[in-house]
Amino acid sequence: MKTIYVDNAATTAMSDKAIEAMTPYLKEVYGNPSSLHTVGQVAKEALEKARADIAECLNADPREIYFTSGGSEADNQCIRSGALNGAMKGKKHIISTAFEHHAVLHTLKKLEKEGFEVTYLDIHENGLVTAEQVKEVIRPDTALVTIMYANNEVGTIQPIREIGEVCKKAGVVFHTDAVQAVGHIPVDVKADNIDMLSLSAHKFHGPKGVGALYCRKGIPLKTFIEGGAQERGRRAGTENIGGIVATSVALKEACANMKANAEKMKKLRDRLIDGLLKIPHSKLNGDRTNRLPANVNMCFEGIEGEGLLLHLDARGICASSGSACTSGSLDPSHVLLALGLPHEVAHGSLRLSLCEYNTEEDVDAILKAVPEVVSYLRNMSPVWEELEKGQRQHLI
Ligand SMILES: *Cc1c(COP(=O)(O)O)cnc(C)c1O
Repeated sequence: MKTIYVDNAATTAMSDKAIEAMTPYLKEVYGNPSSLHTVGQVAKEALEKARADIAECLNADPREIYFTSGGSEADNQCIRSGALNGAMKGKKHIISTAFEHHAVLHTLKKLEKEGFEVTYLDIHENGLVTAEQVKEVIRPDTALVTIMYANNEVGTIQPIREIGEVCKKAGVVFHTDAVQAVGHIPVDVKADNIDMLSLSAHKFHGPKGVGALYCRKGIPLKTFIEGGAQERGRRAGTENIGGIVATSVALKEACANMKANAEKMKKLRDRLIDGLLKIPHSKLNGDRTNRLPANVNMCFEGIEGEGLLLHLDARGICASSGSACTSGSLDPSHVLLALGLPHEVAHGSLRLSLCEYNTEEDVDAILKAVPEVVSYLRNMSPVWEELEKGQRQHLI
């Protein structure tokens, strides 16, 4: 049975180019970039070339890029830096949203315990916030605004440029978790008015365990991992050269092919959405147009997302009910609840996140499997029976 992998928002397969590019750094060029001898210096050159290439993709200066162990670490370091810099000036207010990734939300929860106040903006039912909402709650003591570029579950793309402009005018540092955006849609830190940004390699066909953050010149980046002087003293530890080189190659490849990939995926995505909406009592979550080219997120009334996933997996289709981080727990996704969906509906969610390796045949197979599995599960569901008998109101 062929595997159809449509869980690319959780992680992606590495590209062949990225694997090829990293291999020499695992074999011949194994030097420590901090060493003064030739093998070390060759590694150092590769590190700095990767930094420059990544900076170019984001329209940043290489000195504004710091490597981390992934998106989560980048989020932690950016947000804590922004908060601590503010606190030194007596500013302890932070603005964010209720549908951020847990790397952001859990960092904010900790900061709240440490005496910071966080305002979580309401998400509109289409999965978007507005710059106007930020403007309404920004205060003289606001230290930081952190709002994700594109949501990992419903794929909605936030008005980052406008939000950045509001922050700039108010003199407030603006961080964005751009893990789902970088390599997928155009991201330009200058044009988008971004002060700090997080990215992760394994979301654009790079390796797992490698990420980077952008911190605009002039903003002091705090250190959380103490040790050697790597990353200009901001993040200690011998650099993952192979992984970093692979990250830069994967990102360059993603940016070079961005337009063509997006067009291809939008076609597949739109076929999936139109096909799945034919299932009665189904709903697309998140704005239809303002969304990532690769994201489909649906709810089907009267079923449990977990059941749907297991049956799809048995047919070789690897999908998700939402965030990889909440799978395994029985709580519905915090993102779908933030969009205002009732618990019963949020439980029946399905996220299909595509990549450029997916085909029309994959879409055919999914459009055959999902309606069959949904019918099968509904026929066994006591909730569905009550809905059918009119003992319970349909919510979608
Ligand atoms: C995957 C993801 C992260 C975490 O990145 P890791 O590299 O897995 O730590 C953070 N934010 C968003 C939006 C993500 O999709």
